Order: sequence, then C-alpha cells, then structure tokens
Amino acid sequence: MTRMGSATDMATPLRHVVGARLANQFEDKLKIVTVGGLLRHYPRKYDKRGDLTDISKLKEGEKVTVWGTVRRADTRYPGPGSKVRSITKVTVSDGKTDITCTFFNQPWMSKQLSPGTNAMFAGTVGKFNGESQLSSPQVMIVGHENDTTLGDPDLRSVGRSKAKDQLATIEEFPGGSIPVYPVSEGISISVVQSAVRMVLDQLDEIHDPLPSSFRELHDLVGLDSALRNIHRPQSDEDLEKAKKRLRYDEALSVQLVLARRRELARQYPAEPCPPRPDGLLAAFDKNLPFTLTAGQQGVGEEITKDLSTIHPMNRLLQGEVGSGKTVVALRAMLQVIDNGRQAVLLAPTEVLAAQHARSLRHVLGPYARGGELGAPPEAIAITLLTGSMTAKAKRQALLDIVSGQAGIAVGTHALLSEGVYFAGLGLIVIDEQHRFGVEQRNVLRQRHPEGNPPHVLVMTATPIPRTVAMTVYGDLEVSNLIGLPRGRSPIATTAVPAKARPGWVDRAWERVHEEVGKGHQVYIVCPRIGDDDEGEDDGETHEPPDENGEEEKRPPLAVLAVARELAEGPLHGLRIGILHGRMPPTEKDAAMRAFTNGETEVLVSTTVIEVGVDVPNATMMVVLDAERFGMSQLHQLRGRVGRGSAPGICLLITEYGQRSPAMQRLEAVASTLDGFELAERDLELRREGNVIGTSQSGNRSGLRQLVLKDHRETIELARVDATRLVDADPSLALYPGLADMVRSLIGDDQQDFLEMG
Ligand code: ADP
Ligand code: MG
Repeated sequence: MTRMGSATDMATPLRHVVGARLANQFEDKLKIVTVGGLLRHYPRKYDKRGDLTDISKLKEGEKVTVWGTVRRADTRYPGPGSKVRSITKVTVSDGKTDITCTFFNQPWMSKQLSPGTNAMFAGTVGKFNGESQLSSPQVMIVGHENDTTLGDPDLRSVGRSKAKDQLATIEEFPGGSIPVYPVSEGISISVVQSAVRMVLDQLDEIHDPLPSSFRELHDLVGLDSALRNIHRPQSDEDLEKAKKRLRYDEALSVQLVLARRRELARQYPAEPCPPRPDGLLAAFDKNLPFTLTAGQQGVGEEITKDLSTIHPMNRLLQGEVGSGKTVVALRAMLQVIDNGRQAVLLAPTEVLAAQHARSLRHVLGPYARGGELGAPPEAIAITLLTGSMTAKAKRQALLDIVSGQAGIAVGTHALLSEGVYFAGLGLIVIDEQHRFGVEQRNVLRQRHPEGNPPHVLVMTATPIPRTVAMTVYGDLEVSNLIGLPRGRSPIATTAVPAKARPGWVDRAWERVHEEVGKGHQVYIVCPRIGDDDEGEDDGETHEPPDENGEEEKRPPLAVLAVARELAEGPLHGLRIGILHGRMPPTEKDAAMRAFTNGETEVLVSTTVIEVGVDVPNATMMVVLDAERFGMSQLHQLRGRVGRGSAPGICLLITEYGQRSPAMQRLEAVASTLDGFELAERDLELRREGNVIGTSQSGNRSGLRQLVLKDHRETIELARVDATRLVDADPSLALYPGLADMVRSLIGDDQQDFLEMG
C-alpha cells in the first residue's frame, strides 16, 4: 500500500497511505484526497475513556465504563398517563455477559444502537427487578461488527473478532482521549480514527510554514506537534496548545487574504480631493447652526486626509444612533464636490432616501439650489433617484447625474440597477451598511465609467462587533464616532410581559395619550404588515426562539389590524397614520411627511422606520411582539425617539413569560444603551461559528478552530502579523508555505468572498 522509500508529506495523496478502496471512500464521503486534507479534518470532540469494567463484575452504585456489542434494542411508548414518553432498552454483551441499558425519552437510541453496534457505555450501575442495569448512560459508538477494519496487520490476526479490533483501536489512544470525527453516512468514526493513525505513523516531520519568529512571539507550538496533538493528544495541555496554534493559522489565513486585498486597493489610483479654503465645504462650515462634536471633528479629519490622497478611501464609519453621521458624510461629499466631482448617497429604503434628500436640501439651504435663479455660484443640485419614480422623473434624474448637473445623487438600490452613469463620481456614501450586501458594494466600486475608482464611505449605527469588522469587513478602515450631540435625551426602555402584567399594557396606551397631550408623537411598531399578501413582510424579523413549543402561537401582530384596533379602542380620538414597506411610494412619502409635520400623532409601522428616520418631536415608541426582533434591531428602532430635547421612552411588549429567554433578551436591551454591547451579545446568541459568512452555499470552509465571538484576541494578533507580512512582501513570495496554507484553509470560493470585500 505504501510507496516504499518516498517521503510522506501533507501533499501526498491519501491513497498512497490507506489504499485505493479506502481513499475512494474518503474522497466520496468527506471530500478528502490528501494526507493534509485528512490531518485538517479535526476531531469535533474528544471522549474520555475510563478504565473498562468487566460486565460480570459490576457493583451497584459504581461509576463504570463498559464496552460491548449491542444485541437488541427496543423502544416502547407507555402512552397517556405515564411520566415518560418512551423507554428504550438496549441489551449489550461483552461476549460473555449481558447488561441492559435504559434510556428515557430518547427513542432514536434504538436506531443508533442497532444490533451489531460496538459502543462504550458510561454510567452508574443500578438495580431494576433485581438485575444490574445502566440508566441513561453516556454512549460512545465505536463502530459496527460489519465495519471493515484497517490498521496494523497484526490487529487483523486470525481469530480476533472485528469488534476486538475496534476496541484495540480505541484503547491505544494516548491519554485516554478518543477523538470523535465529523463523519457522514457511509463512513464511520472508527475508520477515520484508523486512517489518521496510519497517516501519523508514516508521516515525516511536517514542515512548518510559519516563520519561527512568529511562533516565538505568540508562544505557538510547531505545526507538526499541533497536527499530531489535535488528533492524538497526550494530555489536555497538549490539546490546548495544538488548538491555539491551529486557530492562529486560521486567523492568519483570513487576515492574509484581507491584507492582500487592502494592498491591492491601495495600488489603485484615486482622484485626490484635498480641502479648499474657499469652497462649498468652507461656506457650509461657516453657516453650520451647531458646533461639531469632538467625535465629528476627529472623524472628519481622518476622512479629509483620506480623500486628499491618491488612493481610494475605504472607510467604515460606525456611530450610535443620533451621533450625527449625516453631517460627517455631507462634509465629505462637499469636499469632493469642491474638487469638481460628484457624490452619491445610498440609503436602504425609499423613506430614508427621500428623508436624506429633504434634509440635505434643508441644511444646505441656498447652496442646494444649483441651477436656480439667484443661487450662489457654488450651489449644487441634489437629485433623488428611487425605483418607484415615474419613468419621466427617472429619465430627468439620470440626465442630471450623467450631465454633472447633480452634485449629490441620493437614492436606493435603484441607483445600482438603473444603469446610472456619472459625469465624475468622486465619493460613494452608503448609509446603514447592514442592509447592503457585499456584492452591492462591489458593484458600486465599479460604477465609475471611466477614470479612477471613487472613494467609499460606509456608515452604520448597528455597530459591527470588532471581530466581524476585522473579518467580513476587513478591507475597510474603521472609524468610530463617539459621543452624542449635546442636548440629546436618554431613552428609558422597559420590557413589558403582557400576560403577566396586563395592567402595564393599559398603562402604556394611557401614556401614549399623555405624550400626545404634551404635543409629542409616538411610534408603534409591529412585526407584520397584515395585508393579504403575507409571508413577504418588509421587516427583517427574527423568528422567536421556540421556547416550549407547546402552545399554538398566534400570528405576529400586524400593522393594519393593530392600527384599526387602536383607533377604535385605547387610542380612540388620536390621529393615527400607518406606514409599511408595501405601500405605494407616494403614500409612503405622504405618511412620512404627515408624521414629520405633526399632522398624524401616532404612526403604526413596520421596521421601515428602523434606520435613520429623524423626527425629533417623537418621544415614545411601543414595540409589539418585541421578541420577534433582534437586539441590535430593537436598539436601532428605539433610536427613533429621544432625538429632540424631551426624554424618550420605549416599551418592548411581549407575550412571552417573565423568565423566558425572549424576555431576558428584551431586558438586556432595556438595561443598556450601548449598541456595541448589544451587537456583541447578538453575535453570541446567534452562535455564529465560522468567521466567514454562513451564507456560503454548503461549501465548508477550512476554518474549524476559529470562532468569531470567542477568539477576538487571536484575530487581532493575526491582523497585525498579516499586515506586517504583506507590507514587506505583498505577494508572499518569500513565504510560499504561507500562501499554501491560505489556500488549504480558505478555499478559493471563500477567498473570492473575502476578496469582494
Ligand atoms: P445618525 O448618526 O443617527 O445618522 P443624524 O445624522 O441623523 O444621526 O443626526 C441626528 C440629528 O442630530 C440630526 O437632526 C442632526 O441635524 C443633529 N446633529 C448632528 N450633529 C449635531 C451637532 N454637532 N450638534 C447638534 N445637533 C447635531
Ligand atoms: Mg443616519
């Protein structure tokens, strides 16, 4: 089977080591073809093997591990009146003696432990009807009597049963840690275990591509030791060291891809747009009705510097809701305009795009009247382009943009799809990034008909956890806009369990009357629209966690029905408007304008108001079925209130119980106004495993050890290292081994994903 005399390394085809038949199995079932591929197939966990006890010598009350072959497995369903739903009895034999293992409410056990299965059972010995038994023991399946066994020829010596071979395979694991591999139908864990052992026994010392200075710096073991110990740990300590090293390799691989991507972007030329002392920006600054916050000034300086260079800016601006990102973006746009270029501002919704166009015109005053009689000479035009505009209006807008009439184009995705061309695009601003996919960012970058790529500024109020920012958005430089403009009022948030405290709900509606009585306005947010065409609502609502699964759940509350019921019931007499994503654009616009002007006092809406909507007179928000929204989303939503000088209140109403996880999430939102903290907790709850987006179609990445939420420090170290390596050696010519590592850990498709940035 083995090629005598030739070295076995990571690139060696697996078939040279384990033979063609088995190699085919690995290729078919696990897509593994090389020795390296197998060694990168890490155990998903390790079972601890205790000393095996002879079944005939079991004593009541003892904690034991026994090994044997399943003879029989039956599940019985006692039916109504019984405390348990199912009882599975499994008879296990070690060849001489039998013992019964009992499992309650695990009917699948009889399938998993079909006759002939070899397994270990660990538990406490009990007595039932005078006989020893193990009640709900831990089970580790070792293999099946009919499995092909491989391994040492002497393990196959005549007269030994296959079951004994498997036991031998298990027993020889050093330190008693038995690796349990991810497998698929048609290949068993014990086959992987044996193959790994054969490979490790034959393998020459594995070459380590990581420069030794890096290893020393971070106290990492060599690759040879790491790969051997991840499969056959001698001790827990060795296993930890192995994991640490492999985790680092994964983090470094991701960061190398990103660092190379940034390096590439830096090589593009851009149109330098330095600030002009006599331009529109200077005039705007002079007339600003407020002073910029320290944060706005700081970030503004960073952006000014970026825009002045000959390389395109790629910057992510994160700032809490209400921190004043729009002004920062506008000032960047004006700086670009002062250099004879155009800027485009993209918003995730038409409501927000229209609001942006309105408010930009408002703050720019006469400077936004470009082309009109009597406007100052440096004035520009602001052009709105959204998907739902009439063909005629669209044509005019496109014309203004391509002719250069439009200094600033504001729009939605329509700006991507309409085949819009710019006279000279200098800056793309993307508001509320989280609604914009990676691909769209990429399309935009390429929307410069001729000349150099534009600068890009991405803004978000949904803070991206640092680890995500460093990976998925790793090609962007990050600025944080800290601090809120003075005079902002805090928002008091309360989670309301509607069933336990119905009185609080009544009180909430009274409170709505009081706010309106004081001349303020109120948002009421529902998870659904509730017109006929269900199932396609515009909110990104989360399915609530299935908490007990018992009760039939009613459908989530809907805008149309809630608006009707409130108008006839608790909010009778108030002027109520509605807003949702499927209203015709003109109606949407009218509804938003009516609320902005104070004509409607209460706005019942879906999450279309989630991002960016700015009505300072709104002081209260009631979120219904609040458990349906993510924590970051609720944080966004409540940011719509408390934008004026009066304090804001936000009530998160749920029908889930007081001690339910749903209620705990709502209380977490109520307990902090720190969007970063909530984003981190959201990430934890989503249990996002891999670094690279889960959206990838079934293609497993090679990242197994690195978990975004747990390994921030490793990612940070690796980012620094990768930047250093790529700065010194952009194509990694000096480290071909590292380039190979990146390729093996991050498949080509995944690399594309990262590269799209
Ligand atoms: P966000 O960061 O959530 O997008 P906006 O840009 O919409 O916040 O700003 C919220 C409000 O704060 C706007 O009405 C804006 O005019 C106002 N604003 C921005 N900067 C300041 C400042 N330095 N002082 C006072 N008000 C400001
Ligand atoms: Mg905003």
